[in-house]
Amino acid sequence: MLHVVTAIDAEGPIVDPAKPDILDSWERVDGLLGRLFSPALREAAPDSLGHGPVLSWFVLSLWGVRHNPYQRPANSLEVFDRYAGRWGRAMAAWGDGLYWHYHQPSPCGAANRWCADWTHADCYDEVLARLLVDRGFFPSCFRAGGRIEDNDLSHWLEEIIPFDYSCCSGAVDWDRVESCGEPLRAFCDWSRAPSDWSWYHPDRDDYQRPGAMRRTVLRCPDLASPVHTLTDRDIEAAFARAASGAPTVLATFEHDRRDVTADRLADAFARIASAGRRHPAVPWRYATAQAGAAAVTVGQALPAPTLDIAPGPGGRARVTAAGALFNRPFVALGDASGNLRRRAGLACVGRGKWLTDPLPEGTAVVAAAAAGPTGEVGTARFVVIKA
Ligand SMILES: [Zn+2]
Repeated sequence: MLHVVTAIDAEGPIVDPAKPDILDSWERVDGLLGRLFSPALREAAPDSLGHGPVLSWFVLSLWGVRHNPYQRPANSLEVFDRYAGRWGRAMAAWGDGLYWHYHQPSPCGAANRWCADWTHADCYDEVLARLLVDRGFFPSCFRAGGRIEDNDLSHWLEEIIPFDYSCCSGAVDWDRVESCGEPLRAFCDWSRAPSDWSWYHPDRDDYQRPGAMRRTVLRCPDLASPVHTLTDRDIEAAFARAASGAPTVLATFEHDRRDVTADRLADAFARIASAGRRHPAVPWRYATAQAGAAAVTVGQALPAPTLDIAPGPGGRARVTAAGALFNRPFVALGDASGNLRRRAGLACVGRGKWLTDPLPEGTAVVAAAAAGPTGEVGTARFVVIKA
């Protein structure tokens, strides 16, 4: 079986007067989204099961931004709220998936600068805490901003998020000088990763090499960008791999940035359906990022773990989990005002049992989320009763 995953890095409007084709208001972004959720796109180019395309929305959280020359949504929840609020019902109706995309802020604080240093700031933990405490959301799939990953990010993901669609291996122009003045490979490198549509568990010492970590890395190159285009040869290779009996994900990504995205997606779906007709013996389906990854790694969907939070000794919270886990829970703390949102330290005190660090003064809520091996996410919430 071939699973076709279409990722959209959902980032909202960008105001760049030099590039009028870039959607510069939510109204213009909504115009594109209206096309992406339209029957015209969703009922064309059906898969071998007769179903139309589904999309996987990797919603961006920008945080830690001090300079914002292109007026990007930068308050960490704005893009999520816009997508989940304005388009949540349409996502559910078409069977789409909602996941997470994160740009590590540059030390200079500019919203439009890339950063390859995962360690200089840890606002990713705060952003995830905010999404979990305030919106009850936790992602099973991740895409790195600028596809920028290193071993630090790889090890951070390994604790909590089972499926990583950041890999853009293949015929990429790694030496193209990007807008920051540096070649792409100086901050984004997947040149050593498999490019034959094989997915892999990464190596502890090299995120680009297959190894023994639990997380799954899936290739998801640009559909059409200055550094990579998804060719018919790429599509053919995915069908050929599936035809050989290897469960395969054919994934690609686009942005919610230009009106032409709708045309590019329609063209890609038509090309994939055409390849499907050339391989009548290969069953293929459109899948969400989670469903595609679950199908190739485990086979069938497993139930989400069941989490529970209760008061623990010494002013701590006790977190327990039943059922299979991908790795361990992400536990977040919040105060009543909305100022404190942070990840809690966790000490394992038995199989499926953890204690948080002592809760800080003013903690009003403890929330936990954990993914199962196939990405089904269980959550729990505990309101702290103050003495
Ligand atoms: Zn991005």
